[in-house]
Amino acid sequence: MTKNIAVIRGDGIGPEIVEQALKVLNKVAEIYGHTFNYTDVDMGGCAIDKWGNPLPEEMLKKCVESDSVLLGAVGGEKWNSVPGDMRPEKGLLRLRAGMGVYSNNRPAKIWKQLADASPLKKEIVDKGIDFIIVRELIGGIYFGEHKTDEENGEKKAVDVLAYTESEIERIGRIGFETARKRNKRLCSVEKSNVLDSSRLWKAVMHRLAEEYPDVELSDMLVDNCAMQIVKNPAQFDVIVTENMFGDILSDEASMITGSIGMIPSSSLGASSCGLYEPIHGSAPDIAGMDIANPIGTILSAAMMLRYSFDMPEEADAIENAVSAVLDDGFRTADIMSDGCKKVGCCEMGKLIISKLERK
Ligand code: NAD
Repeated sequence: MTKNIAVIRGDGIGPEIVEQALKVLNKVAEIYGHTFNYTDVDMGGCAIDKWGNPLPEEMLKKCVESDSVLLGAVGGEKWNSVPGDMRPEKGLLRLRAGMGVYSNNRPAKIWKQLADASPLKKEIVDKGIDFIIVRELIGGIYFGEHKTDEENGEKKAVDVLAYTESEIERIGRIGFETARKRNKRLCSVEKSNVLDSSRLWKAVMHRLAEEYPDVELSDMLVDNCAMQIVKNPAQFDVIVTENMFGDILSDEASMITGSIGMIPSSSLGASSCGLYEPIHGSAPDIAGMDIANPIGTILSAAMMLRYSFDMPEEADAIENAVSAVLDDGFRTADIMSDGCKKVGCCEMGKLIISKLERK
């Protein structure tokens, strides 16, 4: 298969970690007989320096025309004083809007080799934690009307939480499709005991469930879900939820895994063209030192293969290679523990490539 990938190296550690992910993709292409073509895209601080704009129109066009986008990270102290509209993060918002992505998908997985890094008790971690949160990204309360008025001599603030059936349906479909590619269990999280928007959410999810008889749908109230994520996270496979609930739950879920450098993410819309990036930022404090953990970006590339390119075997091969390197005791500084062998960013990439094989 031939795929065209837009590559945004970005700022800080971005170029270092993306380089390792591309080397891994090249090895996968060699083993499985694929061709991955890469188009470099400037976005973030480096684009401000070069073009005076965090995401020039022609750069966005390259992303929209690609089969998917791989992003390192953007931003840094140097651009903190530029006007709001020209900030590196604006490039990211414009990219998401331009690509029409409306879901953000974050796995919460504890690698058994790193179980000690989790703040959860060992008996909870030992049950195995491997789920994914599908979060609606461009609707709900963050995008509703916000206003502050005077009423009866005091200020009153209002934020509107609105969802249409079609907005719920399109994110619901991503939830069901994601579950189909995993263990076929979908948990819809809402607050239907209080909110109308949640009652509509639940009704649409159940209507959709009829089209996905192979996926088992369950419902959970968001307050219970927040508890269950720390009490019994092994019960989850895929969680689908609205924007604000997803924002909060996905941060909670990333904390239980214990290491920010390991977590990939994807953003998807109506087409198969997705945006894939690690959840961490540009880590300017360690940029250029060859000590960053490239695994979050490498696993983002694996997600791209699984969810956008329909290459599950290739995605499994990358995840198995990461696991094998961790089994051998190799760690970057951020996940280092006693008795392990510390390696840099390039070395970690090389080790993962050395473990890649066709099953
Ligand atoms: P950060 O995620 O960049 O760093 C937080 C801490 O985690 C730092 O100590 C850093 O060294 C460490 N860290 C992060 N990724 C790591 C990795 N792969 N390996 C080892 N250690 C790692 O968050 P921050 O410091 O709050 O933000 C730095 C910059 O990144 C800011 O300009 C922020 O706006 C930007 N940012 C960008 C994105 C994005 O591009 N999607 C996301 C978040 C923050």
